[in-house]
Amino acid sequence: MKVLVIAAHPDDEVLGCGGTIKRLAQEGHAITIAILGEGITSRHRTRNEADGNLVSQLEQCSHRVGKFLDARRVLTRGIPDNRFDSLPLLEVVKIVEEIIEEINPEVIFTHHGGDLNIDHMVVHRAVLTASRCLPDQIIQSVYTFEVPSSTEWAFQQFAPVFSPNFFIDITETMEDKVRAMSMYESEERAFPHPRSPQSLEAIAKRWGSVVGCNRAEAFQMVRRVCHIREKCL
Ligand SMILES: [Zn+2]
Repeated sequence: MKVLVIAAHPDDEVLGCGGTIKRLAQEGHAITIAILGEGITSRHRTRNEADGNLVSQLEQCSHRVGKFLDARRVLTRGIPDNRFDSLPLLEVVKIVEEIIEEINPEVIFTHHGGDLNIDHMVVHRAVLTASRCLPDQIIQSVYTFEVPSSTEWAFQQFAPVFSPNFFIDITETMEDKVRAMSMYESEERAFPHPRSPQSLEAIAKRWGSVVGCNRAEAFQMVRRVCHIREKCL
């Protein structure tokens, strides 16, 4: 299967589905990670004050992380951090459409639409628009992931609430998820921050306990279409 992970920032792919990426890659699926934003310049008052070196370091880091997780490719697009809503939605949709056209994925993982982070919300909306069900569409499934420090920090104030109904056992790749996150030195935090190794473990254990395994990542299915000539069950 061709699997496309579409994330707003470098580290969202790890936080949302790092264990799943590694597992699916090990099972022989072709994973592409698309990171639409540069992910760092919002830490400065204006974008011009930000250090261009930090932007390129973070981008290089996302390529190393992708390689570590056995993704075939990492695509980056450099949209300004936490300013996705300063672009017309159509521009983001076009960027996602081009990526989907290039990769031709059967499965997409992306952001939940009710996150606190505005870029995550925009990406969710853009992915649903760009992956809409046209007659020649081969996408079978679209799933959303949670991003610790954004999904739960919305405190259910923005609809929809994240209600996972699809879980992937990542017991064997949990260590890789934590290690991949540690490669993003500028993004990882100390416990009790949700992006700390201990919190990532706790979240995976919590979902694992819900579905009867040691560690799991949780997803919400947006849609699953069984095209002709595919096995439905
Ligand atoms: Zn993010």
